[in-house]
Amino acid sequence: MILPILNHPDPRLAKAAPESGGVTSDLQILAADLLETMYAAPGRGLAATQVGREARMFVMDTSDWQDGGRRQPYVCIDPEITEQGSETASEDEGCLSIPGITASVERPETVTLAWTDLSGNRQTEELSGAKARVAQHEIDHLDGKLILDRIDPAERERLEAASAE
Ligand SMILES: [Zn+2]
Repeated sequence: MILPILNHPDPRLAKAAPESGGVTSDLQILAADLLETMYAAPGRGLAATQVGREARMFVMDTSDWQDGGRRQPYVCIDPEITEQGSETASEDEGCLSIPGITASVERPETVTLAWTDLSGNRQTEELSGAKARVAQHEIDHLDGKLILDRIDPAERERLEAASAE
C-alpha cells in the first residue's frame, strides 16, 4: 500500500523513533508499504518517521532500478552506525519530505551499518558512496533530524523561503 509522506514542517518529522526491539508482523507489513511508497515516489530511501509511524526502521535502494536495473532493497530495523570513516564529503541531497529543494550536506564517506533484517537477524555491512549517504540521511530521520538541521542557519533560511514559495 502506498502511504502518504509527511512534509516539513510536520512536527512528527522532528520526533525520534523508539527502538523496535524485534520483528513483528506489523513491522513486516510496514516494511512492504515503505518499499512500495519509496519506489512509487520515486526515491532512494524512506524512513518510517516520514509516514508518521513510530518505528525505528528505514528502507533504501541505491541501485540503478530507475534505469531498468535489478532492485536491491534494504530493510533496516533498529539501524545504527557502529563506525565511520575519517574522510567526509559534501554532496547535494534531496528529501521526499521537503519537495523541491536540495542542500549540500557534509557526511562521512564510509560508515559501518548494523541493523536487524526482516528475519530478525542482526546484519553488519561497510557502506560507501550513495549507500553510506542514504543510510545516514535515513537514520537522521529516525532521530528527528532533517537535512535542514545539517546546514548553516543562513542557508537554511534561504532554502526554507524558497520551499515556501
Ligand atoms: Zn529525507
